[in-house]
Amino acid sequence: MPLPYHPGHEIVGVVTELNGTSDAVTVGQRVVIEPILACGTCKYCQDGRYNLCATMIFFGCTAPDGGMADEFTVPIDRLVPVPDDLTDEQAALIEPLSTPVHATALAGPDLSGKTVAILGSGTIGLLTLAAARRRGAARIVMTDALAPKRELALRLGADAVFDATADDVVDAVRADLGTSADVVFDCVAIQPTVDQAIAMATKGGTFVVVGVPAAPVTIPLPEIQDLQIRIQGSATYTRQDYLESIAMLQAGTVRAEDFITAQYPLARAAEAFADASSGQQVKVLVRADSAAAPTA
Ligand SMILES: [Zn+2]
Repeated sequence: MPLPYHPGHEIVGVVTELNGTSDAVTVGQRVVIEPILACGTCKYCQDGRYNLCATMIFFGCTAPDGGMADEFTVPIDRLVPVPDDLTDEQAALIEPLSTPVHATALAGPDLSGKTVAILGSGTIGLLTLAAARRRGAARIVMTDALAPKRELALRLGADAVFDATADDVVDAVRADLGTSADVVFDCVAIQPTVDQAIAMATKGGTFVVVGVPAAPVTIPLPEIQDLQIRIQGSATYTRQDYLESIAMLQAGTVRAEDFITAQYPLARAAEAFADASSGQQVKVLVRADSAAAPTA
């Protein structure tokens, strides 16, 4: 990211001031934000796909404001009220959960009876597990290079897990599923996982790119054609995905205590980033309020 950079897009906060009026939001209300700051007028915005807006900026990423601050401003229509029965920790998962909710909808939305492979057992992979299960997937296997992450995936409901670095991981996944995977969600999106995903989806499967690729990869186009494999990109989410995420959190389908494994006060944000990068945590929260007792 070019500097200056103002991070923070997975946010829960309290409205302190409104410039204008809103039917949905009042001062004092707890809210999360949709960080997509879309133009509202381009072709994509006009048909509701504002996650594809031609000129969007992203709050906490490419916008001049970010959520890791005591106070910040966002457009009123980007505020989403948090139901009273969700804790702050649950609310902080609404944004990250919405990405897998969107990706699994693009793959289905009904995954009833489908076999699924999820590559990568980090936060997004584990939330994809919950979202795919909710859409009815019959059997879900997951991979990761790290044993502790595979163990967590099993604990959170994966039917089987496999070492992503094993030479035979594709054969192992296909043997477990009986044959090809109906849908493969690649939450890593590097050349080795793309190769694995296509081999697992052969034949006739759907390969969903969920992770954010850092670089181009090579695709075996003859196999994509001849083996009728569908490649589906997935970009963030829209309001409907937020509402589904809220419903999942309210139903206990996703439990905050499984994901948020450390919290730091804002003044110790650098430690929070280091902890998050250590591989020892699932998700790390930074708190700007007085409840920010360090837990790590
Ligand atoms: Zn637009």
